[in-house]
Amino acid sequence: MTQALRGNWNYPTTIWAGPGRIAELADACTRAGIARPLIVTDEGLVGSAMLKNALAALKNAALFGGVKGNPDSSHVEAGLRAYRAGDHDGVVAFGGGSALDAGKVVAFMSGQTRPLWDFEDIGDWWTRADPAGIAPVVAVPTTAGTGSEVGRAGVILNRETHQKKIIFHPQMMPRIVVLDAELTVGLPRAVTAATGIDAFVHCFEAFCAPGFHPLADGVALEGMRLIHRFLPRACADGGDIEARAQMLAAASMGATAFQKGLGGVHAIAHPVGSWFNTHHGLTNAVILPYVMTFNRHAIQDKTEIIARVLDLPARGYEGFFAWVLKMRSELGIPHALADIGVSADKAAIIGREAAIDPSAGGNPIPVDAAQLEHIFRAAVDGQIGAVVGAK
Ligand SMILES: [Zn+2]
Repeated sequence: MTQALRGNWNYPTTIWAGPGRIAELADACTRAGIARPLIVTDEGLVGSAMLKNALAALKNAALFGGVKGNPDSSHVEAGLRAYRAGDHDGVVAFGGGSALDAGKVVAFMSGQTRPLWDFEDIGDWWTRADPAGIAPVVAVPTTAGTGSEVGRAGVILNRETHQKKIIFHPQMMPRIVVLDAELTVGLPRAVTAATGIDAFVHCFEAFCAPGFHPLADGVALEGMRLIHRFLPRACADGGDIEARAQMLAAASMGATAFQKGLGGVHAIAHPVGSWFNTHHGLTNAVILPYVMTFNRHAIQDKTEIIARVLDLPARGYEGFFAWVLKMRSELGIPHALADIGVSADKAAIIGREAAIDPSAGGNPIPVDAAQLEHIFRAAVDGQIGAVVGAK
């Protein structure tokens, strides 16, 4: 069976998928042109068997394990110091979304002279970068959610402004991605659920985002079908390699699809994560049905299609919405933001920052700060019925 879960893909980048393929990490570095890799990883993975094996497999490699959840510029700066001190020539970004984002940004910044925030994803700011100063990246995800391994950006928190900034450059796309499901079998159930729903929200928001992009829509639909089928299995039995492999693929598919756009769920989740240091995937999982309720008028047709593709027992928006609530509760996701430590006292700021978050532009209905604040307040209280749908 594991042989059937193996594949080499070449979009949106080179992907080596299959259980056990971490054994090819040294080969991946060679192919990416990296002779002296810096492995950038999450604090929590330092000392793990998978990191020890990676270090042993790579000649001339060093480890930087100083990345925390919701990484900020201090993590990037510390990584850059390690990169320069070791005279590295590329990065192996190894871990969850935080490690992947931080590792990609370290590689990007390694040869730049301008400060980090000059490269925020605004207009053509990415053209300020010196492309020759961008080091290659090999990405090894150990969670199935963010999909950052196939993304061209890294989300970094600016602690001074409490804003998550998207640092973007087309060359930040990792050269090679190793999708090895065996690296995800030890993930606790709660993290599996939260990251898996993040991947679902990527597919869902991309599919519902306005604009002509049938490629993204097709990838998003299949991603949702896989997550519907395999996330409950991965949560029920973490050692289910088939479920883990399908989830890892679906996570990469979500981030591939959201080149089309995201929406209100991510627009609200970003400032909530910045202010309350909540887990990104968990925050999205809580917020999803509130934003759906607001968008209902604009997503009726699309949710009809999704319900059919997922082969849900009840069809249309109603059937899909009922399934979202059921899946969420079966996977142990809380219903209200208050349950994960978020309060309404920053509601006005959250609304304002959500409105200027780049994700807001992908919402199926144009949405302003007051409306986002309204949705956020309902999500804090757990009152879906309080959300007034847009017309
Ligand atoms: Zn996300």
